[in-house]
Amino acid sequence: MLAAVSRVEEIIDNPDVIDEIYAQNINYYNENETSFFKNPFFIYLFFYLIVSLFIGGWFVIKARSIDVSKEDLYDKYQDMSKLGLGCLLFLFPLPLYFINRYVKSKLKLYRFSPRFSKKNGKQFYLKSEWAENDFLEKAQILEEKIKSKEYDVWVTEDESDILILEYEGSSRKYTNCKQCRYKTFGRISTKIIHKATYDSSGEKREDYLCKNCNYQESKTIIIPRLERSSSSSSSSGGSSWSSSSSSSSFGGGSSGGGGAGVSW
Ligand SMILES: [Zn+2]
Repeated sequence: MLAAVSRVEEIIDNPDVIDEIYAQNINYYNENETSFFKNPFFIYLFFYLIVSLFIGGWFVIKARSIDVSKEDLYDKYQDMSKLGLGCLLFLFPLPLYFINRYVKSKLKLYRFSPRFSKKNGKQFYLKSEWAENDFLEKAQILEEKIKSKEYDVWVTEDESDILILEYEGSSRKYTNCKQCRYKTFGRISTKIIHKATYDSSGEKREDYLCKNCNYQESKTIIIPRLERSSSSSSSSGGSSWSSSSSSSSFGGGSSGGGGAGVSW
């Protein structure tokens, strides 16, 4: 305070000081402005923020349009779950973290909101994981067990109407069986028929089995010939293919099965 008063007194006593102050301010301002716009970091940051804003805005519009649509809860769930933020969530965490939370809360709401029978208007009640098995087929229970599918069973109190809703499971190891159509078809073993060498390519066989109807299929895959790397030829022997193949743990021409495939 006292310093400020003495500075004002100084200005009154000597008007030249005013010019000095203005000059200092102008210099300071210009210097700051040019360094800000010349710095490539700030230019990247600026474009990153613009792109973030566009991507965030696009997802907000998409999610909102699904939420306000007139589709039923199940269709809304399917549309919302396909929105898939995926790796964008890591590239643009700031806007997408909040959108991801919104999407997740909506998915929960669509899946577990009270439902009513279209047949008689009575309220449905969701069966527990254990109690729902009475209403599912054997193959559907199997799909739930191997986590390729999830089923919600909604039943009215008097069991006059039953609604079974199907959702994707967490496991990506299974595909739909060509024979029975259930999502119970997966790899059970990989066998190396002959290893790849520096002179010739190798061969491996993958066996697939449907856990529901026992439909089987085998696939023969060519393992590319090993390549000699010019820089580290001695240490790279055999590793060029084993890292890209899940069958490396039981290589060496062994006929033993098991391993990388699916398990009960
Ligand atoms: Zn099958």
